[in-house]
Amino acid sequence: MSDFPTKTIKSIKRLLLRQQREVEENLKEIEEDDPAKSPALAESSEPGTDSYIAETHTKTMVLGEQLKNASKNIKNALVKIRRGAYGKCEKCGKKIELLRLLVMPTAKYCVSCSKKT
Ligand SMILES: [Zn+2]
Repeated sequence: MSDFPTKTIKSIKRLLLRQQREVEENLKEIEEDDPAKSPALAESSEPGTDSYIAETHTKTMVLGEQLKNASKNIKNALVKIRRGAYGKCEKCGKKIELLRLLVMPTAKYCVSCSKKT
């Protein structure tokens, strides 16, 4: 059992699911926008196109990594909710402050542990 009231957990879960949807939508969008995947641009012989593609592609990769990371954290939090282990600091095992979880539902550490890292 989790230490938080069911109602609280439910709203956190809703928050996480909404974030997950947003992250997935963003991921799809940036992948579609990646010029390296656009044949028309890749075949263009305009000067500067290559560096534009390379630059944007790099940005897309970085952003994609961040989004994938966020998605992983959201999934982890959802798994923890299912197991009733949600809201426990992964470092000291203490309860994570509720306010912190409401602001950042994917938080893995309590405030004092996150300050130490
Ligand atoms: Zn801690």
